[in-house]
Amino acid sequence: MAHLLGAEYDAFAASYAQAAQVGLRINTLKISTADFSSKSPFPLTPVGDYEPAGFRLADEERPGRHPYHAAGLFYLQEPSAMAVAALLDPQPGEWVLDLAAAPGGKATHLIARMHDQGLLVANDVSRSRARDLAENLERWGARHTLITSSAPPQLAARFGPVFDRVLLDAPCSGEGMFRKQGGFAWSDEIVLACARRQTTVLQSAASLLRPGGILAYATCTFSPEENEGTIGRFLAERPGFRLIDPPRFAGFAAGRPEWLPADVPLPDRAQLARCTRLWPHLFAGEGHFVALLQKEGDERPLRPTWSGRPTQSALWRAFAQETLRVKFEEGRIGMVNGRFLHLFPPTTPDTTGLYLLRHGLPLAELGKNHLIPHHALALALTAVDVNQAIDFTPDDPLLHAYLQGQPIAHSGPDGWVLIAVDGYGLGWGKRVSGLVKNHYPRGLRRTPTLQG
Ligand code: SAM
Repeated sequence: MAHLLGAEYDAFAASYAQAAQVGLRINTLKISTADFSSKSPFPLTPVGDYEPAGFRLADEERPGRHPYHAAGLFYLQEPSAMAVAALLDPQPGEWVLDLAAAPGGKATHLIARMHDQGLLVANDVSRSRARDLAENLERWGARHTLITSSAPPQLAARFGPVFDRVLLDAPCSGEGMFRKQGGFAWSDEIVLACARRQTTVLQSAASLLRPGGILAYATCTFSPEENEGTIGRFLAERPGFRLIDPPRFAGFAAGRPEWLPADVPLPDRAQLARCTRLWPHLFAGEGHFVALLQKEGDERPLRPTWSGRPTQSALWRAFAQETLRVKFEEGRIGMVNGRFLHLFPPTTPDTTGLYLLRHGLPLAELGKNHLIPHHALALALTAVDVNQAIDFTPDDPLLHAYLQGQPIAHSGPDGWVLIAVDGYGLGWGKRVSGLVKNHYPRGLRRTPTLQG
C-alpha cells in the first residue's frame, strides 16, 4: 500500500489506529427511518446522503442482542458495505440477482430498496452460508425473494439473461476487513487466486444480465489486481459492456486507472476512473471497491408468473381462518421441497435443477394431520395481522424468557399466538389452557446471560 499510495500512505496507515466502524441499517420494509430513529435504543449518526436508512453506531453498543434485531427491524452492516446496493440502485418491480449473497447484508439492502416488489434472487454457492442467508432474509420479512445455493454457471444455464440488475459481491482477499477482524492469511498468491476466480464468476454474472441491464461488481479489498485488474480484463474481452459514471457522494473516491496491470489489453484505460473506491482514511467505513457496468442493448424479457400447481390444503385453510386477519392469495400457495407451503412471488422463473432454500414466503410445514406455521411467517406479520398476539415491550422479562425458549403463562383462547415486540412479529407460541408453548426455533434461542 505504501508503494501504491505514496504521499497518501501515512493517512491510510493512521486510520488503522482507530476502531472499526460499526453500522446499522433500518429495515424500511417494516418501519420508517423516522419511526425507528424516534424509538432507537442506540444513538444513531447518519452515514451520509448515499443511504438515508444507514447509521453509524458507537463502538460499545451491542445491538445484536436487542429484541428489535430478532424482529428484523435492522441489519448490522458497516457503512462502506451500504454503498454497494445504494450505487446499484435497484427499483421496485425489477428482477435483481445477488450472485454471492451470504450472509445477506447486501441482499437485505437490495430488497428493501425494491420495496419488496419484483423479485430478488439471492444465491450463495456455499450451502452452510446459504442457510445463514436464508435466516437473515427470513428476519427481514421480505416476500419476493428466491434463495438458492447453486454454482453460478448452473444459474446462468437455468435462467439466462433475464435480470435487470446483478450484484457480484465477489469473494476477495478481504483487505478491507483487517481493522475489524485483525490480521489473517494474506499473500500475493491469495490475491492472484482471488483475481482468477473473480474473472470466472464475473463471466457468469454478465451472462445473467439482460441487454441494457446494470451489473455491480464489488469487493472489500484494496488490491488493484482484484479491482481495476478484474474489471479491466473483463472490459478488454467484452466490448458490449461499458463502465457507467456513478454518483460521487461525500468521501467516494475514483478508481485508479494507473494501477491497471500493464499486460491488460484495454485501449481506453482512463474509463477505470469511473469505478468507486472507499478508503478508510477518506470515508468513515472499512473500505470497498464498486464498479457499475452496463450491457449494451435494451430488451425487457418476459416475466413469467408462477406456473406450479396451487396446493389446496384444508389444514392451511383452517389455520388461516383461525389465526390470521390478513389474506394470502390461494392461487400462489404451493409446495417447496416436499413439505413446506410457500406463498410464491407473483412473477418468478423456473427453478428446476437448482438447490432451493426458499421460494417466496414460507407459510407452514405440513405434516400428515397437522400444520406448524413457519417462523418466517411470524417475521412477516405484525400484531394486528393475527387474531391472537402477545405484544411485549423490549425490556419485558417475559419476552427475554421467550427468546430463551421458555413457555409463557398467559390466559386466552387455545391456539396459535404471535409473539411480538412493539407490534413486530418475533415467533410463534401455541396456547393450551393458559400456557403458551414456545415455538421459537431452537437454533435461535438465546443462552441466559448473567444480566438475564
Ligand atoms: N454479499 C454478502 C453480504 O453482503 O453479506 C457477502 C458476500 S462475500 C464477500 C462472498 C461470498 O461469495 C461468500 O459468501 C462465498 O461463499 C461466495 N462464493 C465463493 N465462491 C463463489 C463462487 N464461485 N460463486 C458464487 N459465490 C461464491
